[in-house]
Amino acid sequence: MLTDADTPTESRDTTPVIATGTNPLAGIGVGLNRYSERRDDDAWLVAIAASPAARYIVLDADLRAYTCLTPDGLRLLRLDTQARDALLPRDANASFLGEAEGHAYFALRVDALEQVVQERLAARAVDLREEGLSLPTLDAGLFAYAKGLFHWQQSTRFCSRCGARVERRHAGHLLQCTAPECAQPHYARTDPAIIVLVEHEGACLLGRHANWTPGRYSLIAGFVDPGETLESAVRREVAEETGVQVGAVFYHSSQPWPMPASLMLGFSAVALSREMEPRDQELEDVRWFTPRQIVAGLDAGELSMPTPLSVSYCLISDWLLQRAGIDLGDVLAGRTGGGDVRMNFIAPGERRGSG
Ligand SMILES: [Zn+2]
Repeated sequence: MLTDADTPTESRDTTPVIATGTNPLAGIGVGLNRYSERRDDDAWLVAIAASPAARYIVLDADLRAYTCLTPDGLRLLRLDTQARDALLPRDANASFLGEAEGHAYFALRVDALEQVVQERLAARAVDLREEGLSLPTLDAGLFAYAKGLFHWQQSTRFCSRCGARVERRHAGHLLQCTAPECAQPHYARTDPAIIVLVEHEGACLLGRHANWTPGRYSLIAGFVDPGETLESAVRREVAEETGVQVGAVFYHSSQPWPMPASLMLGFSAVALSREMEPRDQELEDVRWFTPRQIVAGLDAGELSMPTPLSVSYCLISDWLLQRAGIDLGDVLAGRTGGGDVRMNFIAPGERRGSG
């Protein structure tokens, strides 16, 4: 499908790929005070949970969030205390998320909102992966936060040390073993995973899994092993999946990825050569792409990119912009001028000079 006709010598820039813009799932950090130091203050929590400023977001059993369509677009359903009391079971157990924009946010999980309630509120349950981009940053972030917290609560029913039941404390952030002789506290876990844009003299390394839709390629990724540094995980995963040897590794950005419990840590890295020799069978195909090959593949409909919700998209987008002056958003919106990507192409010297 894609030709190797253009020799990939566009850019020999090996400076770190800098994160620009805000990832939708990472942006919550800017506006939310989690008040983690007050999660054990029951009196304070009871008071704010009953205050007029409290807002409740609601997830169903599949951890989809209820949303409603407003004149400003799709928003998380936000119930105040009155609406919560009128619509939801009394024993609904709320988890405290934090304070933002003058509201104390709590999350509730219900098996499903009754049909009549859904209709009255004009509410619709949506999946984070499918609709996360349609939501404002605060809403997408609260959704990701609640989804990750609830997944941990649902999957931690018993103490992993002694097998006794656990009990929710600290507004949903602590699961306490109920066996007095054990009393082990359990806290939410996050699994670190690396994702890396590997480049070599103007081309980046993309791979695809056999079960992906045709033409979909993404960056190399994998979980961090116990006892391993992030940069070692980057070098090991790239070597295992592609055989490419990596030199310098640079941090780019991170992103919560509650599918179900990951933290994606994005890096750029410089390969020592183009030589490939996959050691595992994880990827069906792996190859080097120049910026022009990426744009040509996208324009021809032969290549597709990861979801813009993901840190891999942000890495590829920043790399295309910083190495070749190409705006991935414009390319995907079909604004590249009928596939003539050269009009967007800036030689390395020009880019460095103008930056
Ligand atoms: Zn225990």
